[in-house]
Amino acid sequence: MMRFTVPLLAAILSVSSAAAQEWSQVSTPSPGPTQVIGFYSAGCIQGAQALPTEGPGYEAIRLSRNRNWGHPITLDFIKRFSEQVRAAGQSPLYIGDIGQPRGGPLTFGHASHQVGLDVDIWFERQPGARRAPAERENPRLRSLVRSDDGGIDDTVFTDQHMALLRMAATTPGVDRMFVNKWIKERVCNTATGNRGWLRKLVPWLGHDEHFHVRLYCPQGNPQCQAQASYPDDDGCGEALALWFKRPPVQMPAPGAVVKPYRPKLPGACQQVLKAP
Ligand SMILES: [Zn+2]
Repeated sequence: MMRFTVPLLAAILSVSSAAAQEWSQVSTPSPGPTQVIGFYSAGCIQGAQALPTEGPGYEAIRLSRNRNWGHPITLDFIKRFSEQVRAAGQSPLYIGDIGQPRGGPLTFGHASHQVGLDVDIWFERQPGARRAPAERENPRLRSLVRSDDGGIDDTVFTDQHMALLRMAATTPGVDRMFVNKWIKERVCNTATGNRGWLRKLVPWLGHDEHFHVRLYCPQGNPQCQAQASYPDDDGCGEALALWFKRPPVQMPAPGAVVKPYRPKLPGACQQVLKAP
């Protein structure tokens, strides 16, 4: 598995640079056919499309961020998955960040989400009627992990969460999904039947209130850089144990001085950024 240094992780939590500001200030997509350029954490997207703010089985939240832009395959994934969730009798999903109108680095919150192929889906199961967009800025978003990080919070975690993860991981086009180590462990310990989908769940820090779905580079996007593959097994053995013994990524110590993350974007992203 790819390892990241502690400084990079700190940057993930707080990317702040002039470059990121430029990308976050552009409020419209660039013209032209949709093209992904670069890597999930160092790239951009031409011709991105906006996810409708709501649809059957989902509601997009925090719309003020203007991060509901992505590649059409991402929007299709969200729509298909949401329909499936609805058909399974679950309440609407809260859809979080996808990407900015032209992708690129974000000023806060993520290192990835730069090419329109990443989406955050919240675990919170919202009962009741659909909410107006303004009421979706600050919804309740509970963690599935106990506040002492001692394990799964069984007052929040339900079979619906297992079903969500299984449905997402078995949807075509999904490269991988990031979840908290405790969530991966719970899935490892309880999933029955065909466990082939478990390998798609990659442990990561955080990801206890939401899971992150990353889609493969779509066909016809030669400038999209695929991510290296991961082991073929279910990831429930040593790869998971490591997260409990010697995590490959750690949070920086409080007050630690860290360098901001400045991804080097492909040259073609400048045209995407500057296009009228
Ligand atoms: Zn994410």
